[in-house]
Amino acid sequence: DLVLGIETSCDDTSVALVDRGGRVIACETVSQFDIHAEFGGVFPELASRAHLEAVLPTVSKVLKVVDGDISRIRAIGVTRGPGLIGSLIVGVNTAQALGLAWGKPVFGVNHLRGHLRSPDLEEKRITYPALLLLVSGGHTLLCHMLSATEITVLGTTRDDSVGETYDKVARMLDLGMPGGPALDRLAATGRAVHRFPRPMIREGYEFSFSGLKSSVARMLEKDPGVDRADVAASFVAACLDVLGTKVRRALGEHAAKSLVVVGGVAASQQIRQLVEDICTEAGIIPCLPPLRWATDNAAMIALATWDYVDRGAEADMRTVPSMALAAW
Ligand code: ATP
Ligand code: FE
Repeated sequence: DLVLGIETSCDDTSVALVDRGGRVIACETVSQFDIHAEFGGVFPELASRAHLEAVLPTVSKVLKVVDGDISRIRAIGVTRGPGLIGSLIVGVNTAQALGLAWGKPVFGVNHLRGHLRSPDLEEKRITYPALLLLVSGGHTLLCHMLSATEITVLGTTRDDSVGETYDKVARMLDLGMPGGPALDRLAATGRAVHRFPRPMIREGYEFSFSGLKSSVARMLEKDPGVDRADVAASFVAACLDVLGTKVRRALGEHAAKSLVVVGGVAASQQIRQLVEDICTEAGIIPCLPPLRWATDNAAMIALATWDYVDRGAEADMRTVPSMALAAW
């Protein structure tokens, strides 16, 4: 049995076939990077058009891997949000049309659930109870998980996500697109000699990053000649300090056997090192997705769909254009 997953929430058109154990039979992703690069961000109207052109050819490509044998497909899972509404609609409509044509149930999947299931792709890595740190482009979440479907949100960000903050600081440093990885690399070559603020570090599990971002901007304004690598390193040090402090606090207050870290920022070498350090300290297992599953892909959506199938959930196709944690 396979689930066909479809992901079109942002700027990647992705389709995958995944079995119940998380084995990826096929996954094809068409990136829109070149389309949006000149705008310095994702242009929503162009994104939905590009999805429209790419989605059916991508489905066909994936189906070739099973010789077009749709009898092996148990269900269809599609990202229903959060994401860009126009982009989501392309995926959701495609999934519904295929479901109708093939007589398969269609499940709308929360994109963030896809990210959090990504470490279980190809091999089971997550041991419950687990603490989850989700650091993607649009979200920053700290959660406690008793199982894949019993999730308590401990804290989110009040303003920018970590990924957004990386990207904005990268722009201030003229590092081009995509900013996060470039900033991560530059930071590795600098020294953390500047003391940037660590917003909300003292209490609780909520995050805030806009103050940190502003103080980097102020430093660059006041001292345009400042060593950029040192600024990058100091910024990353502040982020790691905030994230590490909150994660350690949560581990002190919630039983966990593993620390799950997902989302694009989890590709950062320095974040990976932090996760390893914390896990060694706490004697728990680090669970990170393989790098190719850290950013948006349909394989994680297909795997997450199995949670709905196994629960006998009703197919629910309402899109969730905004932050919709109720729809875990
Ligand atoms: P969401 O799932 O919240 O809608 P998204 O899926 O678009 O967001 P991801 O693809 O998970 O976001 O992550 C993209 C973010 O990860 C970007 O902000 C990017 O800068 C950041 N990122 C990617 N690689 C690295 C890296 N090596 N170091 C730091 N940040 C990185
Ligand atoms: Fe994502």
